[in-house]
Amino acid sequence: MVCLRGIDNLFLHAYIAKHKLKPRDLNLSQRSYIRNMDQIRLIQQSYRQFIASEKSVEDFFDTQIIKFESSHENRPFTTNTIEVTRSPILLFEMNKNRNRSYYQIGVPMDKIKLTTPIKMSLVNIFEIHGIIDEFNTEDLEGLFVLEDRHRINIHLYLLDENMKGYRNSRVPGTRAIYNTDIYIGMRDDQFYWIQKNLTSRLYYCSRLPGKCCYGTNDLSNLTRHESTCTDQTRITASQVDHLDPLLTYVEFLTITLRKYMAKKKTP
Ligand SMILES: [Zn+2]
Repeated sequence: MVCLRGIDNLFLHAYIAKHKLKPRDLNLSQRSYIRNMDQIRLIQQSYRQFIASEKSVEDFFDTQIIKFESSHENRPFTTNTIEVTRSPILLFEMNKNRNRSYYQIGVPMDKIKLTTPIKMSLVNIFEIHGIIDEFNTEDLEGLFVLEDRHRINIHLYLLDENMKGYRNSRVPGTRAIYNTDIYIGMRDDQFYWIQKNLTSRLYYCSRLPGKCCYGTNDLSNLTRHESTCTDQTRITASQVDHLDPLLTYVEFLTITLRKYMAKKKTP
């Protein structure tokens, strides 16, 4: 049994994540103790190259580290990262804020709890879920070929101004037949990695963005509403929170002004 003393802990775990090593590849006993001698030699060799390169760990591995932290075994892992700009790896630090913090290997996705959407490319969102594939990012419907190919459910949401996920009839839906779920948020032509806890069950009317704010958790109700929705539908104060994010500021001002004028006319 060998402990990789002298090797920076962050480097070691970035190496493990970058090479997608599993505990069984390392023949791990506990924490940093690795019993696989071939693997130890490879890591030591890479570490010498890293020291000689004088690069940061992220630059050396050409990656962005998303560091997740948990204060206790029973608590989820959370992160402060809000944007990812290059191929990410996930590191999981346990016992944060206490003595003897250490990195965990092989943390399942359901131990992660995102508190805010993380902006990143579609390629990187799938990469985080272990999926490397070719797809056309311009065609959202085309994205769904990945569902059968990788046995995943792709859940697409629009993000409102509070970065809460919602759907409308123009957002293609998953058949939800597999066990693995990938949640993706969209706002201003940008994609975000999100989770179910950051979404609403509601569908909103897409017929008249900014004018009609009808919302329902039943897709058939939405379809019925949209078939009859006209610009006679009035906007009410309580609905302003749910304005479509695609609504431009100018449109918003126009509506506000129209409401103001209408109010003024009433004696
Ligand atoms: Zn409507």
